[in-house]
Amino acid sequence: MKIYNTLHRKIEEIKPINDRIVGVYTCGPTVYDHSHIGHWFNYVRMDLLIRTLQANKYKVDWVMNITDVGHLTSDADEGDDKIEQKARKEHRSAWEIAEFYTKEFIDTMELLNIQKPSKIVKATDHITDQINLIVKLEKLGYTYKIDGDGIYYDTSKFKDYSKFAYLDLDQQEAGKRFMPNPFKKNLADFALWKFSPKDRKRDMEWESPWGIGFPGWHIECSAMSMKYLGDTFDIHTGGIDHIPVHHTNEIAQSTAVTKKPLAHYWLHSNHVTVNNQKISKSLHNGITIEEIVEKGYSPEVIRMHILESHYQSQSKFSLDALYASARRLYELKSMAVLKYQPQNKINDHTTFSFKETANEIINLMSNNLESPKVLAFLSEIANQVLATKLTEDMLPYFNDLIQTIDLLLGTKLGSVPDISTEIKELIQKRELLRKNKDYRSADLIRDKLLTYQVELKDLPNNNTIWNWAI
Ligand SMILES: [Zn+2]
Repeated sequence: MKIYNTLHRKIEEIKPINDRIVGVYTCGPTVYDHSHIGHWFNYVRMDLLIRTLQANKYKVDWVMNITDVGHLTSDADEGDDKIEQKARKEHRSAWEIAEFYTKEFIDTMELLNIQKPSKIVKATDHITDQINLIVKLEKLGYTYKIDGDGIYYDTSKFKDYSKFAYLDLDQQEAGKRFMPNPFKKNLADFALWKFSPKDRKRDMEWESPWGIGFPGWHIECSAMSMKYLGDTFDIHTGGIDHIPVHHTNEIAQSTAVTKKPLAHYWLHSNHVTVNNQKISKSLHNGITIEEIVEKGYSPEVIRMHILESHYQSQSKFSLDALYASARRLYELKSMAVLKYQPQNKINDHTTFSFKETANEIINLMSNNLESPKVLAFLSEIANQVLATKLTEDMLPYFNDLIQTIDLLLGTKLGSVPDISTEIKELIQKRELLRKNKDYRSADLIRDKLLTYQVELKDLPNNNTIWNWAI
């Protein structure tokens, strides 16, 4: 199995540390607001990675964190804590805000059929682990204190700091107009521990060797990924915007202590634009899954839409584009419902191999998670199957294929329901009417079935197949 490894900027074969178990760490949400469509592109794509690993017979230990403290409004460690700020605005405690959005996040994961990670870990449950890691960094001389502010990481002490993101630190330093924090030694330095403000008690704060405060954003991912997956693990994932700061800082923190690489593979999901614009708070274009569902598109359609773009490409989201995704899902479901209506075995024997088809889609996904290619291939297959007569003897292989598609892509083709006996009887009645050339009465039944969302297609061989209408 191959993925694009940001570490070496090329597609590489995955060779796990442990033969059959792959450790994966995914940077999760900061739980201060609804996650928007851009976030969900990222998490669905990570789910595809996990599913493809599983299809390759790996057991996956998937750890995802929840940032419920320490993410400041500015990535330069300035400004307010996003969760505390929201809490004051809504007259609730930071704990309540974090709990509310964590639950919403997990519920939405389920809605989009994203597998549950083996562990979902919260920053606030791992304060001691984070403090211990900062103590180690302090002992090794990587930290300094800014009075009244916090404990900072001195990036000039970590010689490979610029390596991961190909940063040009000299240019960064020379080009800076003003230092947001004049006490920082280097522009790229970042907070490991922030002190609580003197004039105000925070909802979330802890004792530490340096004083009461809270951890910086980056230290949680170093502390928790290493705690659950080891000093070096297989795959670290996140959004592409994590590369120059968050992931660069994670590597600086972890490798400074362990002298080992944090992960062997880094997989990043590219940006998503909404109506051709970057998603931002000021543009209010961060549409949520709930809002899209309110427009009449199911979570299944949204997931299908996400599968239509490759994780390395810049994807465009618009509500209009969802219509095409709904059509594609419909096409696959029309194929899936054929399992309820196999034809009698007839002479024109088909050589169609569902087993080969299943292997082919696993191969396509295993080659750098090419979900758009898989969908294009499946459209072809759906057309062929619809034109072929699916016979009783083909059914077990066909069902295996549907199961493979569902496991790999997270679709729910296998659970498309059958029609009721009452509707089956109506279809039979219509067939009889057609045989007797009473087309007017046959058409009346066809119209009636549409009110039950069932549509009929008369095949050239006089057989009729049904499908659920969109
Ligand atoms: Zn992270």
